Amino acid sequence: MAHVDAVVTGAGGFIGGHLTAALLAEGRTVRAVDRKPHQEWYQLHPGAQNLVRDLSLRESCQEVMAGGAGEVYHLAADMGGMGFIESNKAACMLSVLSSTHMLLAARDHGADRYFYSSSACVYAADKQTEAAVLPLREEDAYPALPEDGYGWEKLFSERMARHFLEDYGIATRTARYHNVYGPYGTWDGGREKAPAAACRKVATAVLTGADAIEIWGDGEQTRSFTYIDDCTTGTLRLTRSAVTEPLNIGSDQLVTVNQLYGLVEEIAGVRLEHRHIPGPLGVRGRNSDNTRITKELDWAPSIPLLTGLEQTYRWVYDQVRARRDGRPHQR
Ligand code: NAD
Repeated sequence: MAHVDAVVTGAGGFIGGHLTAALLAEGRTVRAVDRKPHQEWYQLHPGAQNLVRDLSLRESCQEVMAGGAGEVYHLAADMGGMGFIESNKAACMLSVLSSTHMLLAARDHGADRYFYSSSACVYAADKQTEAAVLPLREEDAYPALPEDGYGWEKLFSERMARHFLEDYGIATRTARYHNVYGPYGTWDGGREKAPAAACRKVATAVLTGADAIEIWGDGEQTRSFTYIDDCTTGTLRLTRSAVTEPLNIGSDQLVTVNQLYGLVEEIAGVRLEHRHIPGPLGVRGRNSDNTRITKELDWAPSIPLLTGLEQTYRWVYDQVRARRDGRPHQR
């Protein structure tokens, strides 16, 4: 294969689709790779070379890196919201195969920069037991007590990226994403995260005339949610920076899950009864400390939750309506 400016793995997924768009908009040549068939990609950009490959296989990673690449963005992973990762720990840990084989292929074929998408799930659970949580600083990842399954794989793979930098000189960069949301992402099926689930439930209520929705737990657990445009901007800035330690890429606007639903209802122009039911909850509180990213990149995520949710709700509403009308997934 020919040399490209950028290889994006997981490009048929949510963040990978947006990142591919951002790279194409810069005029870069992009090889976009995902194991899903093209019709299931959230975005299929005609300007990119779109390949369907399973990157858990070493030979697929070697193939997509043949010819070398300026930048590699490794986003492919088996992942989802709490409902998925709490009951699919082995599948989440198997993402270590693509993380390992992509790093080896980057080493073998040469990549100027290698970006790894880690997660706030690497942070020690005992620092996230209160709703009024102290924002998580990068050093809070150790002593290690990450989210079981998914978080351990992320912590291992980010550490492996660090040692590939030290031992093989590959310029690796690592972000710990905090709850990224936006259009063109998973909104149903069990892998969706809280903002997309909230948009789907409210849109469904609007379209069916229901007056109540179900929420897992008491809704007083806290989180911060990062809009996709901040995520792609931060990813490009970090990859091209000199920062070799993992950095949080996350909003620091802390809200309860009840407040998140309240904002979506405000956008939809409805007020719904909340029925609190048992469900997987994750940690009690989580927020991003943005001191280090502000210092290192002179930038931090800043898009208000209401602004991002307006875009997300509009897109999810269209998906729910299209499904109701028997029309296929909208691009
Ligand atoms: P996503 O599920 O929408 O996209 C991931 C894509 O990777 C999927 O399209 C999937 O088919 C693909 N994939 C999985 N295994 C593969 C394999 N073996 N070979 C090829 N493709 C494979 O998820 P996303 O939200 O876009 O997340 C992208 C990355 O960011 C993931 O590594 C995820 O763990 C990380 N992350 C995301 C968030 C978030 O809030 N979305 C938070 C923290 C970290």
